[in-house]
Amino acid sequence: MAANKGDYPKPRPAISALNRPYWDALRRREFVLQRCGECGMRWYPPAPLCPRCWSRRIEWTPASGRGRVSSWVVFHQSYFRGFDAEIPYNVAEVELEEGPRLLTNLVGVRNEEIRSGMEVEVVFDDAAPDLTLAKFRPRRASA
Ligand SMILES: [Zn+2]
Repeated sequence: MAANKGDYPKPRPAISALNRPYWDALRRREFVLQRCGECGMRWYPPAPLCPRCWSRRIEWTPASGRGRVSSWVVFHQSYFRGFDAEIPYNVAEVELEEGPRLLTNLVGVRNEEIRSGMEVEVVFDDAAPDLTLAKFRPRRASA
């Protein structure tokens, strides 16, 4: 249920100088990850240096937005009032094609139809005027 767009009743992500480019990109409907300018590794969540070679030559570059469900849970109890209307809702871990895993919600699929390994793609959810979330939906046949 789309409530008043002005207030967002759920806990907000903690946006910092480190991860701001990620959130700014989502608002532009772009899905980006950090990439190491030395070894090419990509990772999430954002870090100030490459977790593999410790280089600080880091750039934000577009990512595929595609991945697979590696794990998920379905919440039947609400821990924050903002989620009350969505019970039961899922929280999934998606392994991106680039390697990193992130926690998200799956949309466009019934909770009982979620499967491990399911191919998914990013969708942009404008949760509030200043907050866009990356959610994932099943990928249609033939990529
Ligand atoms: Zn590196």
